[in-house]
Amino acid sequence: RDGRRTNSRFAINIAGDGAHEASNRPLVEDLRRALNDGDRQLFVTFQPKIDLRKGRVDGVEALVRWRHPARGLVFPDAFIPLAEDAGLIDRLTLHVLNHSLAQQAAWRAEGIDLSIAVNVSAKTLQNPRLPLHAKNMIEAWSADPSRVIFEITESAIILDVERATATLQGLDRLGVGISIDDFGTGYTCLSYIRRLPVEEIKVDKSFVMGMSKSPDDWVIVSSLIELGHNLGLSVVAEGVEDARTLAALTELGCDVAQGYHMSRPLPADDLVGWLVNSPWGPESALRLRPSAK
Ligand code: C2E
Ligand code: MG
Ligand code: MG
Ligand code: MG
Repeated sequence: RDGRRTNSRFAINIAGDGAHEASNRPLVEDLRRALNDGDRQLFVTFQPKIDLRKGRVDGVEALVRWRHPARGLVFPDAFIPLAEDAGLIDRLTLHVLNHSLAQQAAWRAEGIDLSIAVNVSAKTLQNPRLPLHAKNMIEAWSADPSRVIFEITESAIILDVERATATLQGLDRLGVGISIDDFGTGYTCLSYIRRLPVEEIKVDKSFVMGMSKSPDDWVIVSSLIELGHNLGLSVVAEGVEDARTLAALTELGCDVAQGYHMSRPLPADDLVGWLVNSPWGPESALRLRPSAK
């Protein structure tokens, strides 16, 4: 649904004039242009996060996509590292945050309250100005900070613990939520997590995807859920690909689930259709159903 192909990072080539020239230019130059091109090339897709206690969507994660003029759809794993190396990642992050907050405001205007989670890469977490930029944007969109979440990875903290801690404390003072992404794959820096203003962990999809087939993965997921709860954290499972896994996670007391079984990341326009029609849609979306109008 989000255009991903298994064998290739790049989907169908929708090249027009100048495609040949464009594909010979380093991708990073194209990325620089894309960032100057407003939202025509870099756009945000949204994947629902389901509150398992309520059985309803609570929020969405923002996942960036690049509609490259010559190469077609490009996925973040292929350009986030480039953006980091080229010093473009802070701009990209703020671009995604801005679009996400704009979209959240549009949903709010329709009476739909969704939290919004934005990924922050390791480099950006070292930037002491991040909290200020985030504050300005949150205020500009009149967002409720408690409905904004920043997802960071363990490795981002390890990179420079002192700087990362300072940035996280600055973010925490804004009242936003902080989540540890891909939990279980990095150095399990449990001592840091205890001291940092973190409220959520996301169990990595590599464990969740296989848990209903692999006893080892099952043990890891259930242990991480228990660990998170014992530390007073909310636990999200990402990579939920089938109904069995969803049922198992509910049984294990996991708080939130995210994955292809419920929905792929969707462009904002498609998400509205999902909210209205899915069994996990919010009550507030029911009145948007054609039959209810
Ligand atoms: P992530 O934050 O851990 O996001 C989860 C990734 O898993 C996403 O890949 C999502 O599409 C995919 N996913 C979700 N559900 C399932 C499932 O059920 N099965 C499988 N196999 N995969 C699933 P995506 O969108 O390609 O993003 C990859 C990574 O790129 C993200 O991992 C995140 O680290 C990074 N990223 C994405 N958007 C941004 C962004 O705006 N800024 C930064 N700094 N990083 C981003
Ligand atoms: Mg994430
Ligand atoms: Mg906090
Ligand atoms: Mg992850």
